[in-house]
Amino acid sequence: MPLDLEQIEAGLTTRKVGRSIIHEMVCDSTMNIARSEAQDGASHGTVVLAEEQTSGRGRFGRSWTSPPETNLYLTLIVRPPLERLRSLTMIAPLAVCQAAEDVVNLNARIKWPNDVLVGERKLAGILVETEVSGQDVRFALIGIGLNVNLDVDRAPEIAQIATSLMRESGRRVSREETLAALLNRLEELYESPAAAIVEAWRSRLETLGRHVKLSLGDNVYEGVAEDVDDVGSLVLRRPDGSTMTFEAGEVSLRDPGGA
Ligand code: ATP
Repeated sequence: MPLDLEQIEAGLTTRKVGRSIIHEMVCDSTMNIARSEAQDGASHGTVVLAEEQTSGRGRFGRSWTSPPETNLYLTLIVRPPLERLRSLTMIAPLAVCQAAEDVVNLNARIKWPNDVLVGERKLAGILVETEVSGQDVRFALIGIGLNVNLDVDRAPEIAQIATSLMRESGRRVSREETLAALLNRLEELYESPAAAIVEAWRSRLETLGRHVKLSLGDNVYEGVAEDVDDVGSLVLRRPDGSTMTFEAGEVSLRDPGGA
């Protein structure tokens, strides 16, 4: 069944986030619809929601598996000040973790910068896109794909790497309740001080202390993920003892031995 918007609204405690929802049965990607809505003046907090995506996408053009009426695929349109932009990458995975805890008492963790994992499996993917001209942020788009009732065995391409709220909790989970919890958390975090966001996000990071590989373009850097700085960049301690800092958004992170 498609999402029941009234039920979602009944669960919202927000002022702006989710107060306007554009609900598509099927679309290529909620990011594309949100971009054109934002260009046409959609207000801060507008959410584009789809039951199914035919070209759901992740970072670097990777595809996001988006079967119908099973999961949540949404893009939130925000209009933040410039100094708020960096925190968007942290707010989204954190809100997903908190919502998963609210709804099924799940302890999800974040793989730097913004994959949401349970154990080694991916529960949600996040994509943040921004449109900035000079010092002026025209808008930012926070895309979230959250596996709610996905039966991973029915999606062979991700069967070994994905999980869902249903898989973790052992029961079907209300998509409406999950979405309301997510939107409530998103607004709460969006309005929190930047330092509090970094701290909460940092404490959910499963990456710290791990031996990792970072690919940046054609280069690969290996070392221990030592820390994150106050804007969320990753500090890598290299085998020669030196450190390098990587901005979220520019690199892909792999455990050694991985692809
Ligand atoms: P990674 O390092 O895991 O590739 P990433 O941030 O680059 O992380 P994303 O862009 O967020 O990845 O997501 C795309 C990847 O996620 C795909 O390449 C695929 O492996 C995986 N994936 C696609 N659809 C789903 C899904 N519904 N649930 C879990 N994982 C998925």
